[in-house]
Amino acid sequence: CGIVGYIGTQRAVDILIGGLEKLEYRGYDSAGIATIYDQQLTAVRAKGKLHNLRTKLENNINYAQIGIGHTRWATHGKPEEYNAHPHGDNEGRFAVVQNGIVENYQELRKELKEKGHNFVSDTDTEVIPHLLAEYYNPEGDDPFMDAVMKTVHRLEGAFAIALLCADYPEELIVARQNAPLIIGFGQGEFFCASDVTALVNHTNAVLALENGEIGRLNPLGVELYDFEGKRLRRSPRVLDWSP
Ligand code: GLU
Repeated sequence: CGIVGYIGTQRAVDILIGGLEKLEYRGYDSAGIATIYDQQLTAVRAKGKLHNLRTKLENNINYAQIGIGHTRWATHGKPEEYNAHPHGDNEGRFAVVQNGIVENYQELRKELKEKGHNFVSDTDTEVIPHLLAEYYNPEGDDPFMDAVMKTVHRLEGAFAIALLCADYPEELIVARQNAPLIIGFGQGEFFCASDVTALVNHTNAVLALENGEIGRLNPLGVELYDFEGKRLRRSPRVLDWSP
């Protein structure tokens, strides 16, 4: 239902929670965040209001500068903590938040189970981190991006996704197919969100992904690609408000 993401120099946990608060008005049944700190990918999730997630994070001293967050409105699987996003693979390498529905998740789940993947939620979303893990080739040219391109080609339905990979502590990848995803440009920091309201406190320079586009955010900038990996060039628009 709501997606936020951050990469930069501030404490990601604070930015993510602040962004999710802005998206609360859309309604949700659970929430969660994932960050990478010291090569460690960690996810914290909670059923119910953001207050429950905030409580879980109270004594958290994680100074990660990269992370993704989600407020979930369940479409597949009960509103329980184990179904809350971010979802991961069995190696703990990937974290995924998604808005929308993976329509062909049952076939994908069956295929992945046959290949030895273990599923721990009832969501459609969980096939995404498992596909990433299946396609991830650490010996390849550009392992994270290549896995993302292969994965998005397998997904049917409408989705906006934000992805982290533990091997890439300085990269956040987003993709869009019929569900909104906006990138926000700051000074040495970049944001993403499903809704521009989550960005207004931080920047007025924004770029809306089009269908079939992938955004690759790192602390130095943003690169845009189509699902075939062709580089696209488009500048952010400056909207009419001051952060
Ligand atoms: N289909 C996903 C789920 O049920 C995402 C729902 C949403 O957009 O929040 O977990």
